[in-house]
Amino acid sequence: MSLRILVPVKRVIDAAVKPRVNKTNTGVETQGVKFSINPFCEIALEEAVKLKEGNKGLVESIHAVSIGPTKAQDILRIALAKGADTSTLVDIGKAEAPEPLAVAKLLQKVVEKENSNIILLGKQAIDNDSNQTGQILAGLLKWPQATNAAKVVVEGDKVTVTREVDGGEETISSKLPIVITTDLRLNEPRYASLPNIMKAKKKPLTAVKPADLGVDITNRLQTVSVNYPPTRKAGVVVGSTEELVEKLKANGSL
Ligand code: AMP
Repeated sequence: MSLRILVPVKRVIDAAVKPRVNKTNTGVETQGVKFSINPFCEIALEEAVKLKEGNKGLVESIHAVSIGPTKAQDILRIALAKGADTSTLVDIGKAEAPEPLAVAKLLQKVVEKENSNIILLGKQAIDNDSNQTGQILAGLLKWPQATNAAKVVVEGDKVTVTREVDGGEETISSKLPIVITTDLRLNEPRYASLPNIMKAKKKPLTAVKPADLGVDITNRLQTVSVNYPPTRKAGVVVGSTEELVEKLKANGSL
């Protein structure tokens, strides 16, 4: 059975940027900040490309999809340069970033349109740390899911996934179709080469609006406030274990 892979990629503040809380304490500052593909989505995309390169004829297509502002075109072009064949931007304009349920509903529509039979998502987006979208999508589609994948093997219509679990690994298998979310150790994503960035400009990027897919993206949650963690008090350097014990006794820790 050939694979029609869907890879949802989210545009997030670059992992190397230290986010700053905005003046109104309602979120993080996004002005003048570098945005990139969410790192876990890059891993998902790399796995799709590796499946295509490593198994001649196994992968029919890789479709990248992003739900975000018009600017999210930039990360879709990178995804196309890294090996996606086609892409969809679900353009939310200036609307607030949708919550995982709405994202999953939109992805479900794209899955139906693209006739995808395997979805590779990141295990979490590093901006909201939700870790929900893949699981909700599997529920909506009524497909099996394998989360936190550290290894993915496809043989015919059977998919075997080794998962990272507390203190070890768990290997599970299922028939296609399947939803897989990717963990950090699955692979090392490649960089997009300049020739591929140029070629990607000619690859298909279709833009649609949430309403075209019949999905209401109104959020149910309201962010009450966003704050920095409390600053830690400066430590004290002690000269000996005796002094340490004395200080601990003095502050009631011993
Ligand atoms: P989350 O559940 O928000 O932590 O995100 C988990 C994964 O769902 C991400 O790594 C993406 O693969 C996918 N995802 C979440 N939000 C979006 C979005 N706005 N556009 C595309 N994919 C998304």
